[in-house]
Amino acid sequence: MFIILRGYGIEFILPGIMPTTLGAGRIRRGTVPPCRAIIRDMALELLFLGTGTSTGVPMIGCRCGVCTSDDPRDRRTRPSVLVRYPRPGHTEDPSAVYNDAHDPTAPPPSVQVLVDVTPDIRDQSIREGLAWLDAVVLTHGHADHTMGIDDLRRFNAVMDAPLEVYAEAGVLQDLGRSFEYIFGCPSKRTSTFVANLLPFPLEHAVPMPMHGATWTPLRLMHGRLPIVGYRVDWEGRSLAYCTDVSSIPPETWPLLEGLDVFVIDGLRFRHHPTHMTVDQAVETCERVGAARSFLTHMSHEISHADHEPELPDGVALAHDGLRVSIDGRGVTVAG
Ligand SMILES: [Zn+2]
Ligand SMILES: [Zn+2]
Ligand SMILES: [Zn+2]
Repeated sequence: MFIILRGYGIEFILPGIMPTTLGAGRIRRGTVPPCRAIIRDMALELLFLGTGTSTGVPMIGCRCGVCTSDDPRDRRTRPSVLVRYPRPGHTEDPSAVYNDAHDPTAPPPSVQVLVDVTPDIRDQSIREGLAWLDAVVLTHGHADHTMGIDDLRRFNAVMDAPLEVYAEAGVLQDLGRSFEYIFGCPSKRTSTFVANLLPFPLEHAVPMPMHGATWTPLRLMHGRLPIVGYRVDWEGRSLAYCTDVSSIPPETWPLLEGLDVFVIDGLRFRHHPTHMTVDQAVETCERVGAARSFLTHMSHEISHADHEPELPDGVALAHDGLRVSIDGRGVTVAG
């Protein structure tokens, strides 16, 4: 049963009512829940779709050493990650999702949740063979995190289903203005090929069940703008993704305890009013104390080959296509 509220010019469906029920009929029936030994081998995974700042790297019209670098790790699309974990009821190897033999129109063995929808989502999805999303969560409404929303219509078409989009109410309100033809009242929506999205408002620090994992929105400050990051907990593994942050308010620190993997904004070396510097990001990683930490949302001032060796143990620069897996034995990194 859904409860639909109409406000802000768009329809909201109350959080917690249906995140685990939408699409439930699409989950394969008759499979046996995996035993503990199998769960030990299953992973909570993070795939970096994009690790660049809002301009992307290389930047238009820049001939600096990083923008002209041959190192593929210096090519950074706009910032986004895909979070994956085994779909409830599946016992197949979740990595099969990237197998060419997998039918893209059937639910993959892994739940796949997209964090932010960048203007590069089309290229990122094609690069990673991504064709199925179980939900989209947004950190805030800035263009580098939301302007790929129109391209979500291809996921609707492949899945033949609507797609849940979670964000704070104010962000959904802004999107209702930018994408009125998607989120506006039905009489204003076009009937042509548009994304079919179900907006859900979320509250920071209130955990949300999401297809077998728990997602907790984390309050972060992006300059003076309050935004959210996310903590994801699945079967004793945990990660947090905190992009576009200049400071972490006191209420959020306890929610960053006990993490396996931590991702934080590390824009550049010079001070910036709305992002952390590399030094601030490293200091934050050391205070959080996750097993492995990664910097993202990086500008062209950061050369992967030159600057990563300067980071302390356990802290690394992310790059597009990097995959981080957390299973019962620990954290592994590939790509
Ligand atoms: Zn950004
Ligand atoms: Zn440059
Ligand atoms: Zn931003």
